[in-house]
Amino acid sequence: MILLSALDQNDNILNSFSDLLVRSPSCSCVLKDLLETVVNNWHANIGMILIKDHQDNLRPLALINKTNIELKIKFAARDFHEHLSGLVNIQACLITDSQIEFKEDGDMFIFSCPLWIENKIIGILSLCGMAEYLPKKEDIAILQVITNQISLSLEKELAVEKNNTQQYCFNSVLDSLTEGIAIVNVNKIIYSNSLIRRMLKCGVNVNINLEDFFNCVINISKEPFKTQIYLETCRVVEKETYTFEIETKDNSYMKFTKFHILSPGKELLSFGFLVSDITKHKEADKLKNDLMAIVSHELRTPLTSIKGNVSSLLRKDVMWTDEMKDDFLNDIYDECNRLNMLIEKILDISKINAGVLKLQKELIRIDKLLNKFNLKIVNRLFQRQEINFDINNGTDILEIDEEKIQQVLVNLIDNAVKYGEGDVKIKIGVRREDDMVLFSVADNGPGIAQDVLDKIFQKFYQVNNSSHANNLGSGLGLAICKGFVQAHGGTIWVGSTLGKGSTFYFTLPLKKEGGEVFG
Ligand code: ADP
Repeated sequence: MILLSALDQNDNILNSFSDLLVRSPSCSCVLKDLLETVVNNWHANIGMILIKDHQDNLRPLALINKTNIELKIKFAARDFHEHLSGLVNIQACLITDSQIEFKEDGDMFIFSCPLWIENKIIGILSLCGMAEYLPKKEDIAILQVITNQISLSLEKELAVEKNNTQQYCFNSVLDSLTEGIAIVNVNKIIYSNSLIRRMLKCGVNVNINLEDFFNCVINISKEPFKTQIYLETCRVVEKETYTFEIETKDNSYMKFTKFHILSPGKELLSFGFLVSDITKHKEADKLKNDLMAIVSHELRTPLTSIKGNVSSLLRKDVMWTDEMKDDFLNDIYDECNRLNMLIEKILDISKINAGVLKLQKELIRIDKLLNKFNLKIVNRLFQRQEINFDINNGTDILEIDEEKIQQVLVNLIDNAVKYGEGDVKIKIGVRREDDMVLFSVADNGPGIAQDVLDKIFQKFYQVNNSSHANNLGSGLGLAICKGFVQAHGGTIWVGSTLGKGSTFYFTLPLKKEGGEVFG
């Protein structure tokens, strides 16, 4: 058996230490093995590697306990030695920021060596054992080397962890953006957030080629040729930012901004794309333009008529008969009503469009709803118009904003009357369909061509029908009906045959259990 000198032994322990640290993927994986080597080598009973946490408490990273004393594993740093001395019933050794002291007391020793990172003590390695194995001066030197090695490895590990945390934070921030983002480096996408992948409907994954990324954009675009030109411009453009917009096949709008990523010295490192969904802005813009058109045309017509009637009435040079005065005033009254209705419609459509429509829902029986409705429309129907009801579930209860649903029915009846010719017959049907109630409003009017059936529910859409060229519509009525029905969780649609008539259908949900019935 070869007896190792103390020096050889120290060399050995240092070698196996470095070996463990170099081979293991992380220092913390092998801390316990390292500690065990130390504890065995110095015949200690307890070995601990403790690290300070954010609140300055010491927490064990590794612990070897060969005694039957139960060790508490959380210490406030400043209380550490008190705790330990309490546990092993000895006076503690002292540890200060700059030096290591250790002193023997009774029959046991505690030796603590600080772990340093960037001039700060981040923890300690402590050994506790029988006094006869008290570390000697040269042991202290070697233990210091060991703790320094552990410190270095921990420092490296903490740096990696910090980097990972930063990367994770960076990814979380980018993922929570309301814009899609992709970063390009040497013709490859090196980062993309989940939103851009959803927006472009393809796996814009890390490491896909810029070419494939561009193809994704072209594939979703309604005008691929135009989009390709924009994207080619992106490759060559030298401006720090370059912006273009595309319309997608599913009628949404996207704004692309190419931006440069510069070094602190303003050198071009790489570039990226920000993609935002601007459909809502576009719609708001369109609504604004349409409203301007309405205001300048539809509102001006009744105003001009009112102004004409008023200035006639104001003429001092003409003696109007009472009958004529009544005609003027009736005209003014009608035009005011027309203006009022139009303004109501504009307000309704603006609320629907801005998503701020508020429903005042109440429970109401279907027959009560239709009775009130009947009274409401009586004045609107003339002799040559007839309305019939076919209701097989009048006692069913709906949870609705009554006023809005009345307005839907009134709009549909108004249209049937407005677009109908000769003897107009209207039939209102109501029946239950699973947990919904299906309303239908059928007329015997001119009908609507198949190719525009889905368009008539769009804002401002009016069928170009020469026989009704003079109609006083705004193209808003059905869009408002759709908005109101959808706000209740229902759907609206139409079936029509040219020359025979149209039937508008809409569904509303039945009341859920409980609740007080009004009306
Ligand atoms: P408007 O205020 O112009 O009537 P709507 O949104 O109510 O606007 O209707 C849109 C278009 O749908 C109208 O221009 C009309 O051509 C057509 N339409 C609506 N209801 C009927 C109907 N019952 N019969 C025939 N055409 C209709």
